[in-house]
Amino acid sequence: EGVYVGIDVGGTKVLAGIVDNRGRILRTAQRATPGRRVEVARLEDALTDAVRAVTEDTQVRGVGLAAAGFVDAAGEKVMFAPHLPWVDAPVRARLEERWQVPVALENDATAAAHAEAMYGAASGAEDALVVTMGTGIGGGLILDRRVRRGANGMAGEFGHMQVVPDGAPCECGGRGCWEQYCSGRALVRFAREQLGTRPSVLEEMCGGNRDALTGPMVSDAAEEGDLLAREAFGSVGDWLGVGLANLTAAFDPEVLVVGGGVSAAGDRLLEPARNALMRSLVGAGHRLVPAVVAAKFGPAAGLVGAADLVRQRVSRAAL
Ligand code: BGC
Ligand code: ZN
Repeated sequence: EGVYVGIDVGGTKVLAGIVDNRGRILRTAQRATPGRRVEVARLEDALTDAVRAVTEDTQVRGVGLAAAGFVDAAGEKVMFAPHLPWVDAPVRARLEERWQVPVALENDATAAAHAEAMYGAASGAEDALVVTMGTGIGGGLILDRRVRRGANGMAGEFGHMQVVPDGAPCECGGRGCWEQYCSGRALVRFAREQLGTRPSVLEEMCGGNRDALTGPMVSDAAEEGDLLAREAFGSVGDWLGVGLANLTAAFDPEVLVVGGGVSAAGDRLLEPARNALMRSLVGAGHRLVPAVVAAKFGPAAGLVGAADLVRQRVSRAAL
């Protein structure tokens, strides 16, 4: 009786979905993330709203949260999140209390790695990496067929590896982080900077106001053949490949799985990434270069993984 729900809590939007026991998404509901500098209660209200919208009167057996932030080793707290208001926040217990159903908490990209390892693009692989490109960039680490969480629960924070010393300031407080050059935000920033240097449909799409430019606008424009928008994907894809080459040098995975909202662009993003990977990878001529593939669950991988984690939590509790 009852359904399991996964929610992806990203920097831009909250996506809730009912997920069955084979990783299939039955329904979804979406809300905007209220922002980073708001009361925590507002974010938690948005989550509550999204869960209600997706479940209506259906009985809920558990809710899994895939949060865009640093989740502690115990899976209890969000310690810190560059794009969300949670700081040292006991999110799991608080929402369990509020919703009166079992809740599981995991980092969004680590949850995506669970889904892809269980049912998706990494399911046959012994060693794989999952990179999610949304507002920021997240990572999940699968070694010896196990999703690794690290000493603090914070393994796979690839987005905050410094790739440009003294580079662009990052929401994490650092500078030159990979996600500043390779993410939904980076895509928009590139387009904003280039706007006006040559004709582009983006001009019209944002009504001449570059601050109004969004990631989906850049995607749509690229789809229509707009050269500036395509270049934005080329730039972000290039940076993706360079980062993947560094990660491959470190972990030697069989496959590199790319998920998150920006991955919906498919080969427009992945082709430049594959080329840059080949160019930048150490010893490329003497090894099998890992395949760069889209996440089977695309932007929904995090919520599928989170729903699975709460399902496991409930089964364990029943033993
Ligand atoms: C956060 C990660 C998250 C990623 C993708 C990064 O800025 O530090 O925890 O996984 O964004 O949402
Ligand atoms: Zn950073």
